[in-house]
Amino acid sequence: MNPESICLGELLVEIMRTENNVPHGIEGGLYKGPFPSGAPAIFIDSAARMSKPFNFSTGFIGVIGNDDFGECIIKKLKIDGVDTSKIRVNKERTTGIAFNQYNSDGSRKFIFAPGAAGQVTPEDIEKEYFSNIKTLHIMGSALSISDTSRKSCYKAIDIAKLLNPQVIISFDPNLRPEMLDIKTIIKISKPVLEKTTILFPSGEEAEMLAGVRGEKKACRKLLEMGPKLVVLKKGKEGCQIFSSGIVDGINIPGFSVKEIDPTGAGDSFGGAFIVGYLAGWDLKRIGLFANAVGALKVKFFGPMPNTSYEEVIELIEG
Ligand code: ATP
Ligand code: MG
Repeated sequence: MNPESICLGELLVEIMRTENNVPHGIEGGLYKGPFPSGAPAIFIDSAARMSKPFNFSTGFIGVIGNDDFGECIIKKLKIDGVDTSKIRVNKERTTGIAFNQYNSDGSRKFIFAPGAAGQVTPEDIEKEYFSNIKTLHIMGSALSISDTSRKSCYKAIDIAKLLNPQVIISFDPNLRPEMLDIKTIIKISKPVLEKTTILFPSGEEAEMLAGVRGEKKACRKLLEMGPKLVVLKKGKEGCQIFSSGIVDGINIPGFSVKEIDPTGAGDSFGGAFIVGYLAGWDLKRIGLFANAVGALKVKFFGPMPNTSYEEVIELIEG
């Protein structure tokens, strides 16, 4: 099966502290997991679940270890309809693991054992797999995790554009300044940004990438750097969509929900946005739909929820 929507990059399981404010160093503290994760995987899983009524096909390119954690990720992606035939098993490594701990001020701390997560190589990017490509999503985390993962992302963009000059390239900068310095982040993002159709930054990411203070200003500057659309993610405030024709951006308020776990909200939002875009909806409807998917995610404990298209429509129609 050669999917219409492809994403690539790190696959992980998350192991989460069950309570806030319990540092990883506390002996005997409780964890819950594994939860399938990795920003690119959360994105594609969301796109797959939201694609059900439209029959858009989705696929993922990544690497797991030869262990039960890897199988746990594959199982979830398969159930939700993602093609996993291009997920490779690396027998020398374990599946990537992130231990995650939250504090009541919203901050979080990771212990990260990358294992096989950054082992995607350009050889994993096979031209044939891109023969039906309509949308390709790139995550900043996949650009940062290793040189081979970054080169794989660049190769995927080149192949996608070659096989379909109209392909929609979406890009979530997903910046982690604690992993790479800003200068490097800007340098490795530039080649992607130039080819991006839809950019999904948070306010801070927009300012960092554009090198401009003020979210709005930064989003307008980013439009000059390549993307046709800049979709600013604003947490519980929803989102704001900028294009060259809409100087002030379309502001689309978020849904009011009780936040249980914010991990993966941005990635789930992006996956849903792409589905609405492929469906040909107007920008307001797409933004509302993606906001609803983000809101339902934060109500769910764990990075990859089970939310269905029908549940999203129910929230929108109230
Ligand atoms: P992360 O990288 O942590 O996944 P992000 O910064 O990329 O997050 P957010 O803006 O936090 O992205 O969340 C994405 C979208 O999810 C928002 O634009 C909004 O639609 C929805 N969302 C996030 N948090 C909430 C919340 N507390 N209540 C309602 N909707 C939310
Ligand atoms: Mg994000």
